[in-house]
Order: sequence, then C-alpha cells, then structure tokens
Amino acid sequence: MTQKTPIYLDFAATTPLDPEVFSAMEPFFTESFGNASSAHAFGQKARRAIDSARVIVAKHLGVKPREIVFTSGATESNNIILQTLPKTQTTTESPHVIISALEHHCVLNTAKFLEETGVNVDYVNPASNGIVNLEEIEKLITKDTVLISIMYANNEIGTIQPIREIGKRIQKLNETRENKIYFHTDAAQALQYLEMNADYLHVDAISLSAHKIYGPKGTGALYVRSGTPVKSLMHGGSQEYELRPGTQNVPGIVGFGKAIELLQPEKDKIHVKELRDVFLETLNAGTEFTITGSMEHRLPNNLHISFIGVKGENLLIALDIEGVAISLGAACASGAMEASHVLEALGIQETEPTGIRITFGRTSTLEEVREAASRLYNTIERLDSKKGKVV
Ligand code: PLP
Repeated sequence: MTQKTPIYLDFAATTPLDPEVFSAMEPFFTESFGNASSAHAFGQKARRAIDSARVIVAKHLGVKPREIVFTSGATESNNIILQTLPKTQTTTESPHVIISALEHHCVLNTAKFLEETGVNVDYVNPASNGIVNLEEIEKLITKDTVLISIMYANNEIGTIQPIREIGKRIQKLNETRENKIYFHTDAAQALQYLEMNADYLHVDAISLSAHKIYGPKGTGALYVRSGTPVKSLMHGGSQEYELRPGTQNVPGIVGFGKAIELLQPEKDKIHVKELRDVFLETLNAGTEFTITGSMEHRLPNNLHISFIGVKGENLLIALDIEGVAISLGAACASGAMEASHVLEALGIQETEPTGIRITFGRTSTLEEVREAASRLYNTIERLDSKKGKVV
C-alpha cells in the first residue's frame, strides 16, 4: 500500500519552528553559550540577547520590558499568576477568584488546587456559542474578588472572549472598590492573530507561549503590570526580576523574540481564513456537519466540527491512518481521549456526536486542505454508523 502524504492540521496543539527562528537561536546553543547572569563577556552577550527579546515582547504588548518575565510556557505563566496573586494581595483574608469554565487544563487544575488551599473559586459558564457573558461574570463578583482570569481565545473551539469589554468593566468597578480586582488573560492561542496591547485590553497580566507561534517549545512569558501582587513559585536566584529563578533558556528566549518579530497577524489571518473557507466549501459539497461555537467570534484558523453518526474518536484514529493529523480538542499529555470540559460547559451532552478540531497554519497549503477535506469525506462515508459501516 502506498503511504499517503502526511497533512498536519493541528496548529493549535503546536506549530513547526520557523527556519528564521531556528537560525536566530542556533548561535546561542553553540558559540554564544554564556550564562546571562555571568559578569564576563560571554554572559553579557547572552544577557543582551535576552534584553533584546524582552524589548520585542514588551513592544508587541505595548508595555515596559521590566513587566515581561520569561517562563517555560503558558502553563507556568498561568500558574505564577493564579497561584500567587490570591496569596500575595493584602486587601482581603478570604480571596475569591473567578475563572471561566472554558479555561485550559493548566488554569482549571490550578484553580482546583487553589480551592484545596482555601481560596474560593467560581467558574463562569459560557453561552451556547462558546462566549462568556460579561453580566454572568459580574454576578459572581464579591467584595473579596481579587482575580478574574478569562482566556482570550479557546484552544478547543477557538471562540474569542470579549477581553477588552470585561477589562473595561473591571477597571470601572475598581474605581469604587476598596479591594482591587486584577484581570488576567491566557493569550496562548490569541497571540498570533489578535490585538495584544495590554492597555487596550485593560488587563493586568497576560500569559504567552512561544510554540503556538512558530517559536520553540518550553518557552513563554508572563506580562505583569507594575504593582500587581505576584511572587515566584520557586526559591532560587534573582533572575527575571525575582519572579522566575533559574538560569535563563537563552536560545528559547531569543527564538520567542524572533517568532514575535515575524508575526504578521493580518497576513496570517487572511491565509488561514481562506484555507478554512476552501475546506468548508469542499466538505459542504458532500456531507452534513455542525460547527461548535460562534463562527463570527472565532480564531480564523479554527474549526470545531461534528458529523452526525460519526464519533470524533473514531474519526481522529481513522484520519491518522489516512495521514491527516487533527485533534479532538486539547492535546492531552497522556493522549487519552476524555470528555471535553469545554463541550460540557456549552451544554453539549456526551451522547451527542463529538466533534474534531481542525486548525490551519502559516505553512498549510490549498492543495493540502483540499486533499484533507477529501480524505475526511471518504473517511466519514466509511464510518457513518447510520450506513452500518462503523469500524
Ligand atoms: N493555554 C492555552 C489556551 C493553550 O492552548 C495552551 C497549550 O495548549 C497552554 C495554555 C499551555 O501552554 P504551554 O504549552 O506553553 O505550557
């Protein structure tokens, strides 16, 4: 049997490293290997490279370089803010936190941990279109609320949350509150496509990840507005303004800076939107499907789609055999397929057909997308339980 050409349509899970990013990183693995904390010339070179990357990230968010902390990724950034802010603020002894029920596991599980340590957490459900409603958040706010964390764009269904609107409202409420509410957003999925200016969004903290934007895995950043009460999760040296001890990952940080420098949100948006349209048109011609969540307020590269009579799990496996890499939703460490908390939060029952997540990227081509749609169509025909062909 001839092997079919592999087609990668899982860019929300991770992206390939951009060759230019790789070139920028390479010297910092070899000749420029210094420790950025060393006083000598080798160290200073590494230090300068980190400083430059910090300026690039800060510029992209419209903030001060001093407010950017490099981390190992969005998971760590989310943990720093969620775990430490409620304990570091001094305005209430019974801190209350609000997050959305749509959050990535690294936020949800941190919230669960917080609850175990005595912090009150409320979870705001989205509407059935996958968007969190501002009024629903407001209903949950108490005098003890210290932190609200709402993701910018969802990793499974791609819906975009009204971060600016929420941020503006919180700022207004803060004018008359004794106890300030800090506002954080996990922007791991949003960084490539959406407006990232922190003042425009009215946020106090933003989590970022490099590997979602053609940068290296294991690198990310946390923006923390000056004066926001956070502290380090670890004890160690004074790197990263004492918020993230440990020798800095110089090649990773350089690569992250380069990946941000290479971002062209408008160009990328047009490209992936066109691919998504072609994919849908090709599918439309042959099969019936439902799209989960708002199409209007959605990342341009995301499709979460289900087919009557076909289980998402079966489709994922069958498509993998066909050489098409897609996902059920979040890429889970164990590879296990468990019920999605995001679909649950939308009120989608486990008994309903589960969808698949298809995410396009900068390197995806029209040919690939047409071919993937055709392989998908053929696979559905084969699997459609109503036609008695479940495998
Ligand atoms: N938050 C969101 C929304 C994500 O999609 C991801 C990655 O899947 C993460 C956080 C975790 O990011 P990282 O892999 O950089 O830890």
